[in-house]
Amino acid sequence: MPELPEMEAWRRQLDGAVSAFAIAKAGPAHIATLKTFDPPLSTLDGRRFEGARRRAKRLLFPTDDGELVLLVHLMTAGRLRYLRAGEQGPKTPALQIAFEGGARLVLTEAGSKKRAGVWLLTREAAEAELAHLGPEALGLGSERLAEICADESRRLHSLLRDQRVIAGIGRAWANEILHCAQLSPYALTKELTPEEVERLAAAIDSELARGLELRERGAKDDRTYRVHKKLGEPCDVCGTPIAQVDFEEHTIYYCPTCQTGGRILKDRRLSRLLR
Ligand SMILES: [Zn+2]
Repeated sequence: MPELPEMEAWRRQLDGAVSAFAIAKAGPAHIATLKTFDPPLSTLDGRRFEGARRRAKRLLFPTDDGELVLLVHLMTAGRLRYLRAGEQGPKTPALQIAFEGGARLVLTEAGSKKRAGVWLLTREAAEAELAHLGPEALGLGSERLAEICADESRRLHSLLRDQRVIAGIGRAWANEILHCAQLSPYALTKELTPEEVERLAAAIDSELARGLELRERGAKDDRTYRVHKKLGEPCDVCGTPIAQVDFEEHTIYYCPTCQTGGRILKDRRLSRLLR
C-alpha cells in the first residue's frame, strides 16, 4: 500500500494539474468505489478544485468555494492518473473526473477486487472523517514521540503503523525506519531510553524524506527500500542477511545485527500457539 512518501509525491504531481481547469463532469464512478451518494458526484460539475492535499495516506481534493472535498483512499492497488486532453486512458476507470478543456483525472485499480474508495463530502464531514487520525509522521519530532511512547505500551512496529497514533506510516516504511534507527521491531515503547526515542524520531524524518525524494524522481520499490522485502540480501550497513518474521498479519523485515543484537525474532503468533 502506498504510504506517506508515495502519497505525498503523488499529491505534489497532481496539485497544479487538478486546479488548472474547472470540472466539466464528475463521474462515472464504480459502484464499489464511490462510498457516498449524498451529495451526488455531479455536485462537483462546474466547480474547481483548489489543489491536491494529503492527510496520512489519503488524498483530498477540496473545491475552491470551500464547500466540498473529494477524498480518495487508494488502498493497495488503486492508482490515480492525470491524463492530458486527448491522452489515452483506461476504458472503465473506477472513477473519472473530466475537466474543461479535455484533461481527466482517473482512478484505476488492478485486480477484480475494488478496495480503493472515493468519498464526496462537505468540508465539515471531511474533517469528521479524518478526526481519528494522529499527527502526521513527517516532522513529528522527538518531544511528541516521547509523549506518544509514554502513553502507549506497544511494540514499535505496531505503534508506527497505527494511524490513530501516528499518521502516514505502513509496514514498508515501519521496516525502513526501525532499521535506520537500529531498533528492534519488537522493542516496547515504554522501555525506550530518551536517546532511542531521539533516534527513532530522527529516523522517521530522514527515512520519510528519503522516500519522498526517491518517489518524486520515480524510483521503484527495489531502489527505494533497503530492508522491506529484501529477505536474504545483505544489510547495507553491516552486510548481515536481512531476516523476516511474521507479526500481526504482517511480515516484518529487519537486520539481526543492526537491530536485535544478533537475535532472530520469533513468530509471536506461532509461539502463542505453542505456549
Ligand atoms: Zn545490519
